Amino acid sequence: MNRFEWTSAGAVAAAARLGPVTVAEAMATQSGAPGTAATVLKAGGIDLLDLMKEGLLTPRRIVNLRGIPELGRILEGADGSLRIGSLVTLAQIAEHPLVARRYRALAQAAGLPASPQIRNVATIGGNLLQRPHCWYFRSLHHHCLRKGGATCFAFSGENRYHAVFAHEGCAMVHPSTTAPALVALGARIELLRRDGSRRMVALESLFLTPEEDIRRENDLKPGEILAAIILPPMKPGVRSWYERQGEQDSFDWPVAEVAVVVKLDSPGICREAAVILGAAAPVPYRAKAAESALIGKPSSAGNARDAARAAVAGADPLSGNGYKLPVFEALVARAILHAANQG
Ligand SMILES: Cc1cc2nc3c(=O)[nH]c(=O)nc-3n(C[C@H](O)[C@H](O)[C@H](O)COP(=O)(O)OP(=O)(O)OC[C@H]3O[C@@H](n4cnc5c(N)ncnc54)[C@H](O)[C@@H]3O)c2cc1C
Ligand code: SF4
Repeated sequence: MNRFEWTSAGAVAAAARLGPVTVAEAMATQSGAPGTAATVLKAGGIDLLDLMKEGLLTPRRIVNLRGIPELGRILEGADGSLRIGSLVTLAQIAEHPLVARRYRALAQAAGLPASPQIRNVATIGGNLLQRPHCWYFRSLHHHCLRKGGATCFAFSGENRYHAVFAHEGCAMVHPSTTAPALVALGARIELLRRDGSRRMVALESLFLTPEEDIRRENDLKPGEILAAIILPPMKPGVRSWYERQGEQDSFDWPVAEVAVVVKLDSPGICREAAVILGAAAPVPYRAKAAESALIGKPSSAGNARDAARAAVAGADPLSGNGYKLPVFEALVARAILHAANQG
């Protein structure tokens, strides 16, 4: 690991004034060798320190955000919305009673990644902004397209954990487990700029496909700090559920995951639906055909199965990951039924 300067920021404005760049920008050099001039932000540090230990990131200065109190709170708005500061840990979200009651898919998604020790340190902001876990991306010896090289090694290589949808140019899967749940729930995010101004965007629109920009997973601008995630008030009849499957039950990344949100009217007819797949594509993947298949229908097992079939109908698996499709189909059907049948 390289030598670096360590600075603790006590306020968001102070952190922004130190001129941080995104980790994607800090890693981007023509040669593939990591740049050494950058100032980068640290939340829990799980992903940041991994990249440094792997030799992929060699920053000049690290700005620790952990001492900024306003980023560490969960606050309920007067309108029933919920503001989750970007430094709130996955463990705090999983255990928060309001999150568990109103935004169940998020509580479930936050309670499962990695181990309890990691969830006690990993923050929601860092979770959304972590870099890909494609094994070629994480290897110092593979200068792939996402790192500015000339080729993607996954298409002709080992791709059993890679994308089955929308993988034009790069077949990584988006690493964040909380992202599908937050997108399904209609979350927005608040970003603070260097000049003190704020921008609010729908979380779904933050993520970039490889066609939009193969070097960045999200549209965070240099110097921007993710301040909070805002969940909308829950309308009557809205329920949510998250399901995932890994190769083993603990400490493992999912091979497939799904977050479902449905709004049912009083006879149990689905009026609104969101079905977002994770570990499926380079961005949290909206299964639009499954959403359309649910709307206007009662929440029966047969309709859930039809929607699940529709969710995987347009998939484009690689040589080694066709096994994911029946897994996604089973998870989608299960998540729809669990969401619809909650008390
Ligand atoms: C064994 C293991 C299993 C795992 N399994 C899963 C899993 O199943 N699902 C999953 O989602 N994750 C999994 N992870 C990854 C882990 O959850 C993430 O590394 C962690 O959530 C990152 O959060 P952090 O707070 O440590 O982020 P950091 O490492 O501190 O930061 C991550 C990135 O976000 C940027 N950043 C952080 N906060 C801000 C902010 N407020 N504003 C602007 N930029 C910011 C940093 O500059 C950095 O680029 C696993 C990790 C391990 C080690
Ligand atoms: S899938 Fe993406 S991150 Fe992985 S090797 Fe290909 S270009 Fe690189």
